[in-house]
Amino acid sequence: KSGRVVVLQTIPFSPTQTLIVTRDVSEADRLDTMRRDFIANVSHELRTPLTVLSGFLELASPAVPMSAQHLELMRTEAVRMQRLIDDLLTLSRLESTAAPSQEERVALAPLVQRAVDLARALSAGRHEIRIEPMPADLRGAEREIESALTNLVTNAVRYTPTGGRIVVGAALDTEGIALVVTDNGVGVAAEHIPRLTERFYRVDKSRSRDTGGTGLGLAIVKHVMLRHQGRLDVSSTLGEGSSFSLWFPRQRVVLREPHTEPEPE
Ligand code: ADP
Repeated sequence: KSGRVVVLQTIPFSPTQTLIVTRDVSEADRLDTMRRDFIANVSHELRTPLTVLSGFLELASPAVPMSAQHLELMRTEAVRMQRLIDDLLTLSRLESTAAPSQEERVALAPLVQRAVDLARALSAGRHEIRIEPMPADLRGAEREIESALTNLVTNAVRYTPTGGRIVVGAALDTEGIALVVTDNGVGVAAEHIPRLTERFYRVDKSRSRDTGGTGLGLAIVKHVMLRHQGRLDVSSTLGEGSSFSLWFPRQRVVLREPHTEPEPE
């Protein structure tokens, strides 16, 4: 393991001995490298769509109207930049505080329905997407939890070929509850799994890009789960499919009251 120490002070305390006070700065170095990499990545990710936009603008003039196809490409790239900036702002908001933005009761069934509606729109009928019953509700920040689940379900669509199946279910036990998104899509090889939540880490850059990915989705999910004292679990087999789960600890589970009819008067 590489490391670096800096000498803060040298104190001679005998003719043959000197006390050297040092500080281990390996952690500071590591953070510094991370910050530099991040800035380089963001710049690169922003420059790509900007190059397309300015290239087409360069070609345009009042005498040569822009073709419908070029306009469409420009729109796509503008949307990509917008999405990237939105995700960057979301990440920095999530990192600036450790606690969820709200502690409210979150009804899971409608939340799952909304996430799946978005995924179905993205799928445009190319996948079969099924929802299983939700055994309980949650306590936390609804907006954050919804964005985490939406990320997982839309990823399932983006990384599953046409004709694939996606299931959103839940598993409740005495330890907590897991919201589980399972697909039979492209899957992820074991060596990539630990790195999926790193910012801008993608197994297949072009697939991520072609399906409108920013490379920040799972980093956002990881932060949302940390804030809720939970975690993101991933299991996957290359070529067979994946299962991504949002696990929340017991103290966040809200059991539903059994529905009782009001007594007749
Ligand atoms: P991206 O915008 O690239 O999808 P994410 O952070 O959401 O960024 O995901 C990171 C990477 O994890 C993706 O690029 C992809 O390689 C992999 N991945 C995420 N979800 C799935 C899935 N359901 N099946 C296979 N690979 C996935």
